[in-house]
Amino acid sequence: MLLTHSCTGALEMAALLCEVGPGDEVIMPSYAFVSTVNAFVLRGARPCFVDIRRDTLNLDERLLESAINERTKVIVPMHYAGVGCEMDTVMALAKQYGLYVVEDAAQALGAKYRDRYLGTFGELGCYSFHETKNLISGEGGALAVNIPEFEERAEIIRQKGTNRAQFLRGEVDKYSWVSIGSSFLPSEIVAAFLLAQLENEQMINAKRMALWATYHDALADLAQEGFLVRPHWPEQCTPTAHIYYILTADIEERQALIEHLAARDIMAVFHYVPLHTSPMGRKFGYRPGQLPVTEELSERILRLPLYYSLTEPEVLRVTNAVREFYLA
Ligand SMILES: *Cc1c(COP(=O)(O)O)cnc(C)c1O
Repeated sequence: MLLTHSCTGALEMAALLCEVGPGDEVIMPSYAFVSTVNAFVLRGARPCFVDIRRDTLNLDERLLESAINERTKVIVPMHYAGVGCEMDTVMALAKQYGLYVVEDAAQALGAKYRDRYLGTFGELGCYSFHETKNLISGEGGALAVNIPEFEERAEIIRQKGTNRAQFLRGEVDKYSWVSIGSSFLPSEIVAAFLLAQLENEQMINAKRMALWATYHDALADLAQEGFLVRPHWPEQCTPTAHIYYILTADIEERQALIEHLAARDIMAVFHYVPLHTSPMGRKFGYRPGQLPVTEELSERILRLPLYYSLTEPEVLRVTNAVREFYLA
């Protein structure tokens, strides 16, 4: 595991390690963060966007095989809200077609799939310690290097393309330029900050889990009555309460709910603009209408506040405001 200055940096290192280049295609969900795609496009690859599952908002593994062709080099499962993608299928297809798997586990540190940590299935896994994540260092990230063949090169790429890590261990008497690379290192101050967070990981995640469960229980009847949809995870997944979201009926209802909450000093936000309908996505020839589930759910999702210093009464104030919106 190598610390980096961000998950963006870890993803860029992954693209370098997989030697992705012009002519290669990288399969990923369009419902993802910009860094997930940028890392590979920076190397000249073409993103191949696939649609997502309605229940988890993760890459739909049933669409994966038909997206694979002779140019495909990497699959990038992004574990949305810390809920694992269907890794059995992803890994089996990657093996069958000889593809790398780079997990975007930015939201999934500590989360599991079939009792194994997310970010450890693929050749590479990328984590984030950005201030919006469960464990933070302001800006920060890490790259899990899960195959020995990548270990030495990963160190070199992270150290500006030099073998400085070997030099610091006394293995060589000077260090020099040995490959392409960049500076993906965090500063020591950031690493020290992160250490304190890691030492409190259980407490932090337990608190988030409790807040998450309060949301989930308090919104159960609204979900039962069909007003909204709550998050779901398959039983083989053990997430760590990164995001609490609901699905509204449509984009108009979401906007009205955002305004209703804002009037009560509650900030609820949504993400992501699907990558395939963004201005950059269109430059790759993508058009609205191509990924219907992604387009629909990105217009219906609303994230409710969830952060460490939030309290149970505050969560209930949010859920009461949501109830008032639907029932008043
Ligand atoms: C936060 C996030 C990133 C980027 O992380 P940084 O550390 O801010 O670079 C990448 N992918 C996903 C899915 C994220 O949520």
